[in-house]
Amino acid sequence: MTATFVGMPAFPEAARTALADTQLRHNLAHATTTIRDKRARVVAEVADWEDLRVAGAAIKDATLADLEHHLVQLEAAITAAGGTVHWARDAAEANRIVADIAKAHDADEVVKVKSMVTQEIGLNEALAAEGIAAWETDLAELIVQLGDDLPSHILVPAIHRNRAEIRQIFREHMAAAGRPAPDDLTDDPAELAGAARLHLREKFLRAKVAVSGANFAVAETGTLVVVESEGNGRMCLTLPEVLVSVVGIEKVLPTWQDLDVFLRLLPRSSTGERMNPYTSMWTGVTPGDGPQEIHVVLLDNGRTNALADEVGRQALRCIRCSACLNVCPVYERVGGHAYGSVYPGPIGAILNPLLHGVGSDPQTDSLPYASSLCGACFEVCPVRIDIPEVLVDLRAQVVDAHRGDRRPKAESLAMKATGAAFGSARRLALGEKVAGLAGRMLNRESRPPGGSAWTGARDLPVPARESFRSWWKRTQR
Ligand code: SF4
Repeated sequence: MTATFVGMPAFPEAARTALADTQLRHNLAHATTTIRDKRARVVAEVADWEDLRVAGAAIKDATLADLEHHLVQLEAAITAAGGTVHWARDAAEANRIVADIAKAHDADEVVKVKSMVTQEIGLNEALAAEGIAAWETDLAELIVQLGDDLPSHILVPAIHRNRAEIRQIFREHMAAAGRPAPDDLTDDPAELAGAARLHLREKFLRAKVAVSGANFAVAETGTLVVVESEGNGRMCLTLPEVLVSVVGIEKVLPTWQDLDVFLRLLPRSSTGERMNPYTSMWTGVTPGDGPQEIHVVLLDNGRTNALADEVGRQALRCIRCSACLNVCPVYERVGGHAYGSVYPGPIGAILNPLLHGVGSDPQTDSLPYASSLCGACFEVCPVRIDIPEVLVDLRAQVVDAHRGDRRPKAESLAMKATGAAFGSARRLALGEKVAGLAGRMLNRESRPPGGSAWTGARDLPVPARESFRSWWKRTQR
């Protein structure tokens, strides 16, 4: 049995549950504060950081505007370098392609580089259904996988776990997946990493097939790029005979010059490092060196829907750095699981509705409201995605999608009543009289029937005792 996000409740309910978990809130506050401070320090060192952000956004926008051309160029370059390109419209097609490649090599297991896109398509579960075990090799992903848990952060999927919990997971579950944890394992970080290293080493050396994503794909040469911190990615990308990379179509960059901008933006924004420790790049097959069979699965899975959305398409600039999660006051309190997706936090609140569409799933429709619109996410985003702008636009789309529902919401009834009142001077005058009367009867703590969700967290302005018109009439006589 593998944990999945399927069937997660809408955000308000999931957030309420998460808020009740004080250990979770403590772990999150500690971890996000640490990464946030680290990022702020290293970003402040770069004098032209704002210019870099503008350049990153411009490169992504220009690439997305001519996406088809760059993807065709990427395919041609990969093919010329001895790789094989597959096109997948959705998760099912991508999973089928990966499973077929593994089966063609009689592989009953694959090793994986940390990859958001393979989580998005549920690759591990799809491979398990075909009798193929997919082993996560990133330390945090390993913790999540062994604990039969769900990721809660883009960069640090086990951010909700502390050291003592991780030790417990290793002690209880490592043996069932391979080399057991040492009996005397403590919660010292070096010991925990050492146990994971030994556990994973035998998997790296045994696996015939590896699966990765890619942070970037350079169209001019057909080169894929993976950045990581632990070296597990380098092992997966070089040791097995076969490498399959699932790549979202928005990952393409036209040239190496463009890549330079992103290799400067990404590490400072994500881990708060000046350079990430491992940057692996490969171009097709190199005889006698590394995997001798290279496959690249170019995945849509809703990305062309997002591209068609004039306001929302900027979300496709995202380089998954997770800076927006670390500064978000909502994420810091509720954690990633409440978003019900592998993409949590502010970027998840826009990306999930854009990829899946709004109007049919209450959980997806709840995400654009999972924000206070404070704008901190926009300020830190290395590619200047105006997340609050997209959130507001998606809220409008959700409202539009539910117009005509059999039971109209209180908000739409209130708007209709306001529209009717403002549509006629006589009705407005009557409304003002009623409001004035209410103003004399209500105080700030009064809650109008059905409005307690609003007034529970806000002051309700008391209506003026006398309207302007009545004051004018009275004083100008
Ligand atoms: S939206 Fe921006 S800040 Fe958030 S993960 Fe994507 S690139 Fe990073």
